[in-house]
Amino acid sequence: MIISDNCIASFHYTLTDKDGKVLDSSDGREPLAYLHGASNIIPGLEKELAGKQAGDKLQVAVPAAEAYGERNEAMMQELPANMFTGVDKIEVGMEFHAQTENGTQVVSVAAVDGDTVTVDANHPLAGVDLNFDVEITEVREATEEEQQHGHAHGAGGHEH
Ligand SMILES: [Zn+2]
Repeated sequence: MIISDNCIASFHYTLTDKDGKVLDSSDGREPLAYLHGASNIIPGLEKELAGKQAGDKLQVAVPAAEAYGERNEAMMQELPANMFTGVDKIEVGMEFHAQTENGTQVVSVAAVDGDTVTVDANHPLAGVDLNFDVEITEVREATEEEQQHGHAHGAGGHEH
């Protein structure tokens, strides 16, 4: 069967940036299983997988806007260092969970200048154009439970 809404599709993937650097891969893991049409995966990839079937291999270039979005400089924020209680030394690259109006978000430290810490709430892959090497391994109908939950169950999906 071909990939369409309410299918569970499984695929192996290698994700690289424009320089060919591997950012993520399903190598050594179960293929990733997702419910098509439920925004389980980034929109630019989901769109290209529609109509494909098991055994198909494809390369998909997904511009940042259709992946994790463009960077939003308004999501950079300067905070006083004393807000970071329980941290001995704040260093660039550290990640913290922050409560924001959009719920819990991961922010990373972009700069430390004396008592001022600049945090970045952009997704680490925001503004990055992505390339996916994909091999589709299985396409099946979603069960009623999977459709209700809005995601795939079993190997490569949600185990619960
Ligand atoms: Zn579920």
